[in-house]
Parts: sequence; structure tokens; C-alpha cells
Amino acid sequence: MDCIFCKIIKGEIPAYKLYEDDKVFAFLDITQGTKGHTLIVPKKHVKNVYDMSEEDAQAVFSRVPKLAKALKKAFNPIGLNIINNNDKPLQSVFHFHVHLIPRYENDGMTLTTVNRQDDYEKSDYLNVQDAIVKALNE
Ligand code: AMP
Ligand code: ZN
Repeated sequence: MDCIFCKIIKGEIPAYKLYEDDKVFAFLDITQGTKGHTLIVPKKHVKNVYDMSEEDAQAVFSRVPKLAKALKKAFNPIGLNIINNNDKPLQSVFHFHVHLIPRYENDGMTLTTVNRQDDYEKSDYLNVQDAIVKALNE
């Protein structure tokens, strides 16, 4: 399979490896959006969250605190964003990965959410709630 992260896991192409165990591999994101920008990937090739079992998710997310604590210890950031992109155009590498992005004063990153509370009435919240709960129970 022509997957760049599978090749990194197998050591076929180089990466700045941070951590490895039987389930996951962690390495520096080549872009270093901020200092320490890290990716954690499952060793099992799985495209994205829609293809994951609970066991697959457990393998990756259970290692996130370990890497997050190491980044905090190493660089003392003011905070940390944890991001995961699924499907085009957000996702560019189709092997599931979690981004850990330490944040610093004036680091130039813009990862803010928008507050749309003023656009939402109770009926809007109820419609959104209804659609999701319905999908969960189908
Ligand atoms: P996403 O948009 O969530 O799919 O992000 C994929 C990430 O993989 C990007 O942040 C890339 O910088 C990173 N990336 C792609 N190729 C490599 C590589 N060979 N080594 C390290 N990071 C990579
Ligand atoms: Zn892969």
C-alpha cells in the first residue's frame, strides 16, 4: 500500500521518531506548525475516524496524554491543541493521526472556534440534538 505513514512506521522513509510501542508510533510533523508539533498514529493502517473501531481509537487516544505531558515538560507551552482531520479537504494523509500542537504566546496559529449562540434559538438546538441522537440510534 502506498501510505506515507505506513512507510514511516516500517522505517522505509525517515521521520523524527518520538515514541513507539506495539500499537502506536509518534513523530514530529514535518511542518512544525509550532515547536513540538507531533503526530500520533496507530500502527494498524486505518483511513480515518469513520473506519475505526473502539479498540482502534483506544489504542491511539490512550497514548495522547503521555505525549502531551512530554511536550509540556519539554517546552512549557501556554497550552496545547489536539486536532484530528477526517476526509478531504481537511485530511491530507489518509492514515488516521492525531495532531498535538503546543501553543506559545504569539505563535501565529489561529485555531479558534466561533461563538454562534446569538444565531441559535432553543428550537435550533433541539433540531440539531434530534438529528444527532437519531443518527446515534439508527
Ligand atoms: P492532515 O491535514 O491532518 O491530514 O495532516 C497531515 C500532516 O502530515 C500534515 O501536518 C503534514 O505536515 C504531515 N506530514 C506529511 N508527510 C509527513 C512526513 N513525511 N513526515 C512528517 N509529517 C508529515
Ligand atoms: Zn498507512
